[in-house]
Amino acid sequence: MKYASIIIDIVHEKLDKTFDYSVPAYMEEEAVVGAQVVIPFGRGNRRVNGFIIDITDKTEYDKDRIKDILEISDNKTALESQLISLAYQMKKKYGSTMIQALRVVLPVKNKVRELSEETVSLKVDRAMAKEILLEYKRKKHTAKARLLESLIEQKSMNMKYIKKQLLVTSSTIQLMETDGVITCESERIFRNPTEEYKTDKKIILNKSQKAVVDTVIDDFDNNIYKNYLLHGVTGSGKTEVYIKIIENIVERGKQAIVLIPEIALTFQTVKRFMAHFGDKVSVLHSRLSAGERYDQMQRAKIGEIQIMIGPRSALFTPFTNLGIIIIDEEHESSYKSEVTPKYHARDVAIDRAALCNASVLLGSATPSVETYYHAQCGMYKLLELKSRALEQSLPKIYVEDMREELNLGNRSIFSSRLKHLIIERLEKKQQIMLFLNRRGYAGFVSCRSCGFVIKCPHCDVTLSQHRNGKLICHYCGYEINNLTECPVCSSKYISGFRAGTQQIETLVNKEFPSAKILRMDMDTTKGKRGHEDIVRAFTNREADILIGTQMIVKGHDFHNVTLVGILAADLSLNSALYTGSERTFQLLVQAAGRAGRGELPGEVVIQTYNPKHYSIECAAKHDYIKFYNKELDYRKVLNYPPIGKMLEFYLISEDEELICKAASYVKFQVLAADIDDVQMIGPAPAVIYKLQDMYRQVFYFKCSEEKLLIKVREYLERVAGHFMDKYKCKICIQFDFC
Ligand code: ADP
Ligand code: ZN
Ligand code: ZN
Repeated sequence: MKYASIIIDIVHEKLDKTFDYSVPAYMEEEAVVGAQVVIPFGRGNRRVNGFIIDITDKTEYDKDRIKDILEISDNKTALESQLISLAYQMKKKYGSTMIQALRVVLPVKNKVRELSEETVSLKVDRAMAKEILLEYKRKKHTAKARLLESLIEQKSMNMKYIKKQLLVTSSTIQLMETDGVITCESERIFRNPTEEYKTDKKIILNKSQKAVVDTVIDDFDNNIYKNYLLHGVTGSGKTEVYIKIIENIVERGKQAIVLIPEIALTFQTVKRFMAHFGDKVSVLHSRLSAGERYDQMQRAKIGEIQIMIGPRSALFTPFTNLGIIIIDEEHESSYKSEVTPKYHARDVAIDRAALCNASVLLGSATPSVETYYHAQCGMYKLLELKSRALEQSLPKIYVEDMREELNLGNRSIFSSRLKHLIIERLEKKQQIMLFLNRRGYAGFVSCRSCGFVIKCPHCDVTLSQHRNGKLICHYCGYEINNLTECPVCSSKYISGFRAGTQQIETLVNKEFPSAKILRMDMDTTKGKRGHEDIVRAFTNREADILIGTQMIVKGHDFHNVTLVGILAADLSLNSALYTGSERTFQLLVQAAGRAGRGELPGEVVIQTYNPKHYSIECAAKHDYIKFYNKELDYRKVLNYPPIGKMLEFYLISEDEELICKAASYVKFQVLAADIDDVQMIGPAPAVIYKLQDMYRQVFYFKCSEEKLLIKVREYLERVAGHFMDKYKCKICIQFDFC
């Protein structure tokens, strides 16, 4: 016998109220998660609609009293069915409860009061109204007379105005309504967060842009719903392509979702969409209140808008006729969810699109290795834009070897070339961006004289400095004592690399006292409009130099920037993760892409101790393919994703000793279980070993197939059930996406 958990009210606060019903044998095939059903409900067995959210072999409910499902609606394309199936797939794959998954997928309705506007209008014609007015006056019904007089003039009025300005009470209004003189109507109004934007300049797509649009739309018109990767160099006009594709999709009566990494950082792009689509589009930004977010979701559901732009969560916009999902800058890490279920928006987008016959378009100048690999395997159709929109040349890139600078006696943070170019730009009144990437930086140790970096012999990643003075591999736990002398050249200039944007600002100030400087990082953007203000000020040329972290490289289109300086490319290169080279290549190309977007050509200076590294060499030549091939070789040798599939398993506890015991227990259990074709690495201290007072140990599991990893995940969850209480620790499991 099969049993179904059924939910009858698909709103957030009712998600845990499910009811068990039995599935009659003849229905078993159709009774799947997501199916809409009719059930007998309550004492009177009222017929009620519901949705299946789980199917099981057992029930806790009294088996003799359980009722059968009455009917299954043949309505698989219902929006709710789709979203529930999607939640179910996410639960299965990433690991979570069904409720956790549903909470991600369904819009939150946080007991928001619906805003509505009431209007009062005349129900009788003017002549009749005038007669009634005379009678009101004769009977000295002054309030009624006052309202009627105004309505004879205006025919309909706002309820608030009537109460506040005309001082007519609700009871009087009600009386007049019962008398049939007036009618009250309320219209629900949705809070719309998009401000007014002027329509943008008319753009005629160039040949390659047009070819991309035509491919996607032709496929669409032939009912071919595909997944595409649009690989277009920086400034090639990808955003214009997205706009044109959406325009076509909307003309065909379908809807579009556009995911962008972070609104605050990409609001220039968002503005272009708003300028183009006006009130057809809505934006889910983080500044919206829960109520406003819910309203936007409702507007999508009832067809008031056709396009939703937003971060990861916009993926679940309840469009009933979705045509395409576009993911801009698909390589960005903000598409990975950090709460359970820990999904990747890219993969869930493909699952959602498959459920409703929509297409997915991933776009980037620097696709993630994983995505490009899948494009090569045929999972995505590859579309390319190889040159900039108006044939502007890509910027010239210089790689400056900081070891040589040191040998020549230059100990400052600026190579002589960068210094020289900054002076020149300041004279020409052109703008400069200086970029310091500290993301993923975990305290590596390197030699400033020869560039040697200390690495793990087993994992080929950089070792990081630890509290206890040791250097540790965050994958396998390998450790050595800190060094005081370079093992290669014996130089004493071997040390950790320390530099922050604030220090850089001080140094730039000292070196170029006449320059006006803006700084953009976590500290300067804490306020609500932080990013926008800085971006606007820089666009308006209120400063000569913008100094910042990776925040400044995202999608900005500053036309007067002709010089970009990358102060220390090694910071991300020597991150303790296997994705360090990939991150570096992406950041360098994206940062370089900020230069020379207007009429003036751009130049870029990359400063490094490792100028021969393929990430840096390939970025300097704008050669994505060469980088990709080199990187894939590295991944193949060590079986890192996308070749191998990888799962991260974290143990988290306040107690450093207990967590080690838990780690040995897990190791023992996994070894004893001897799971075929799965490689276990670790335990090791996690890259961020102590976070919010909790210690973190990590295991990595590698194998060739995702299916196997899902089994590993399920196994680990079972094992964890036995020790979490005993060792007072929590677990966290996530797939490794790149
Ligand atoms: P990407 O998203 O690929 O970095 P954008 O879409 O931001 O590129 O385009 C870069 C710049 O070129 C923008 O200012 C855009 O308005 C302009 N542009 C793009 N396509 C065209 C075109 N066909 N004609 C004129 N200008 C264009
Ligand atoms: Zn050395
Ligand atoms: Zn290692």
